[in-house]
Amino acid sequence: MLSVVPTPIGNLKDLTRRALTILQTTDYIAAEDTRHVQILLQRYEIKKPCLSFHGHSSDAQIAKIIGLLKEGKNIALVSDAGTPGISDPAYRLVRAVIENHMQLTCLPGPTAFLPALTASGFSTKKFLYLGFLPIKKGRQTLLNTLKNESRTVVFYESPHRILKTVDQLAAACGRERRIVLARELTKIHETIDRGTIGKIQMLLQKQPPRGEYVVVLEGIKVAQHHTSD
Ligand code: SAM
Repeated sequence: MLSVVPTPIGNLKDLTRRALTILQTTDYIAAEDTRHVQILLQRYEIKKPCLSFHGHSSDAQIAKIIGLLKEGKNIALVSDAGTPGISDPAYRLVRAVIENHMQLTCLPGPTAFLPALTASGFSTKKFLYLGFLPIKKGRQTLLNTLKNESRTVVFYESPHRILKTVDQLAAACGRERRIVLARELTKIHETIDRGTIGKIQMLLQKQPPRGEYVVVLEGIKVAQHHTSD
């Protein structure tokens, strides 16, 4: 059986007991980066054969993993951090397992955008998760659509693009709209910066951005006709 296993996004204690049991008892671990996963495995004293599965894995590699599953082996799929499939490779393998009518279990667990969303203090009734924004084509067009977005918007950004992204957000949504930058969640240098886009722009200009970021943008207020949803 294939188990899709979320792993910590920083703090190695954020591994569920069920995830730990699966990693301890599985036959193989399929990892996005077979060296990176060793940090987690060493922390929990787990020694398992690792297979490589990442965004550029060949069809032959997928066929190899499917072959092992057909032999009755248990395989745990992990990514570098968080939930496989959330802005991470997983779906091609998950789809192959479904197409081959084999068993699959997907565990709940750590993912970066959810603590950022809940820590934002913005409405969580409805939200839009955008993953990573397109790097070039369609980027500003997408950001422009957020001007009239009433749902809370959450997306991932790298440290070397964050300042430019906040500048582009200012151009699209104005400097008064509120955002939250959640940085290095669950790690020693975790910071949550809240304020208007204008204030966050100034903050980022003062301190060179470092680490991993989740951006949360507040939705615009719209007249409420129904309060039950
Ligand atoms: N699969 C992961 C998940 O479930 O959240 C996401 C993987 S994606 C390749 C990596 C991005 O997630 C980073 O560039 C960053 O935007 C965000 N991220 C991951 N860990 C984070 C953390 N500890 N704090 C803030 N953002 C984080």
